[in-house]
Amino acid sequence: MPPAPPAPSQTPLFPSPPTHPTHPPTTPPLPPTTPPPAVEPPPPPVKKKRRIGWIITVVLLSLALLAAGAIGVLLYLRLEEAQQIIEDQTDLIDEKETFGEAMEELLDTAAGFEGVKFGTLVPQDEFEVLAARGWNQRWNADAMPGITADVRQKTTELEDLLAGAAEQAGTNASRTKYEEVLDKLGGGYVTTAIDNADKLCGDDVLGCVTSEDPYVVHIDKSDSKHPSMTNFIRAGLSYHEFAHVLQLTNPEATDIALTAFDGDVETMADCFALTYLKGWKLDHIVWINDYQYYEVSVGYGYTCNKKQKQVIRDWYEGLGYQSAPVSQ
Ligand SMILES: [Zn+2]
Repeated sequence: MPPAPPAPSQTPLFPSPPTHPTHPPTTPPLPPTTPPPAVEPPPPPVKKKRRIGWIITVVLLSLALLAAGAIGVLLYLRLEEAQQIIEDQTDLIDEKETFGEAMEELLDTAAGFEGVKFGTLVPQDEFEVLAARGWNQRWNADAMPGITADVRQKTTELEDLLAGAAEQAGTNASRTKYEEVLDKLGGGYVTTAIDNADKLCGDDVLGCVTSEDPYVVHIDKSDSKHPSMTNFIRAGLSYHEFAHVLQLTNPEATDIALTAFDGDVETMADCFALTYLKGWKLDHIVWINDYQYYEVSVGYGYTCNKKQKQVIRDWYEGLGYQSAPVSQ
């Protein structure tokens, strides 16, 4: 069969008019809310921006790291400083405690001299100086050990003095009446030297005491052997010389007492013997056999009265070391 002839195209003779809506749209188109976008500038090259950003970040990080490091170093230094201060403070506290203990020991040792009649024996003023040094240097950890050492040195000196006195009082090295009496009166702090007192004191004396060495009583050796010398006279002479030791070692109290003796240390020393040695007198008859005797006058020829003896008692009883706290 032959193909069917193509169907004739049907072209409308009158094209239908375009359809128009008979009604407007129920919803009018919304006006544009945003203006049409402006023409954006071309974005900066991305790659370049990123590089700067990185550099800035790295720099900032580096700076932060440096700052953190600096703060760390500062903190470390501060910590070191604080630790050093704490260590210094601890050292200082230790040093102050050690010094305080040493001072306490010194004063305890000094208390062993309580009542000893020699004012210059215990250097109380030196204790004050040591305490003041400790106080003034209390913030100086370097200076404190030296001051503590000085305090201990002073304690050692006092201990030696106490030990020496105990030994001296307990022995009679010269085996003489002088030493027996002086050990008893002086508690071992006064030494008896049987020597050339005449030469030493520049006068013809039975005995003497020098201001340079007031704790040594010098007894003239040749006089001590004279046939007129008795143990009672030796004892009286020892009392007289002991009074000189007291005078020299207690100058202030002695100055007051001396007014009762017109300032004469010798009549005052005689009065000490007359007050405290029972039966003592200045003039003696010493028989050397049944028909020979010596008239011996010991001292300076004046026998003190009751009033003066009372001055001596007041003076003597008022002497004596009294331990006392030390102020800074
Ligand atoms: Zn004298």
